[in-house]
Amino acid sequence: MKDKLETLARDTGAAIAAAVSESELQQIRVRILGKKGELTAIMKGMGKLSPEERPVVGALANRVKQELEQAFAEKIGQLRQQEVARRLASEKIDVTLPGRPAWIGSRHPITLVTEEVVGIFASLGFGVAEGPEIEQDFYNFEALNIPKDHPARDMQDTFYIDDDTVLRTHTSPVQIRTMLAQQPPVRVVAPGTVYRRDSDLTHSPMFHQIEGFLVDRKVTFGDLKGILTTFIERFFGPDLGVRFRPSFFPFTEPSAEVDVECVICRGKGCRVCGQTGWLEILGSGMIDPEVFRSVNYDPEVYSGFAFGMGLERMAMLKYGVNDLRLFFENDIRFLSQFK
Ligand SMILES: [Zn+2]
Repeated sequence: MKDKLETLARDTGAAIAAAVSESELQQIRVRILGKKGELTAIMKGMGKLSPEERPVVGALANRVKQELEQAFAEKIGQLRQQEVARRLASEKIDVTLPGRPAWIGSRHPITLVTEEVVGIFASLGFGVAEGPEIEQDFYNFEALNIPKDHPARDMQDTFYIDDDTVLRTHTSPVQIRTMLAQQPPVRVVAPGTVYRRDSDLTHSPMFHQIEGFLVDRKVTFGDLKGILTTFIERFFGPDLGVRFRPSFFPFTEPSAEVDVECVICRGKGCRVCGQTGWLEILGSGMIDPEVFRSVNYDPEVYSGFAFGMGLERMAMLKYGVNDLRLFFENDIRFLSQFK
């Protein structure tokens, strides 16, 4: 039995030393020291020994057990240290490598231009209003003095959802909604998305407009000219010419289109301005009395003006963009230039 114990101690010591992982070590431990382990079995068999042998073998068995326990503990410590060293080596960070730059997004040029236009009018005392993009015929056409047979209602131009519902073709319905909700004086701009059945190099079926209007007692065409000239000077700079040309819109009378001196050639004539030296940027006019009647404003008491412009066009002129489609393709190389 003594030989058996010594053999067991020697073999187990060698197995412990050779173990390469903690799990392997645990298996050896269970095999030798577990409830059904080899050393446990030997110790259980000591009852059969003679009274003289029992204390000698017992002491030896205890010593073997202690030595093996210690060997296991030391080996586990050693393996854990090796593991830590291995991980430190493999996960080492090279602090001399260049860092990855953080990716910072930029705002869309249409958003930038919208905020700039709104900001200029806000500084002139205008509030901001918004309205639905799915709009009733009444707000989009009827109340704006666009009767049923008006060409602007042509199926070619308007997306109809049903006979009485359209995707708004302009931001002007916000004018009607605002005037129905509040009494003069009102001074509001309304930016938003509008829709027309039109798609080619210079037209997109979805685009952006900003509408503005001012209603009060004794508002004149001179007020319209003053406000819009101030806006253009702030947006494009003070040294470009501005001209007002007579025009026609169903919801204003008289009406005027507003041109700014070409931002590219400064009036000399180029491809962008069609050799005229001028760029048309907005439509405007004194609000038609018919429109006032449809929102229950008394045209004998109140007068006002309204204007509207395309924000894609403003962005193209401001940033020198020559293709409308760039605004809708979301090419990061284009968008990231607007910081
Ligand atoms: Zn030009």
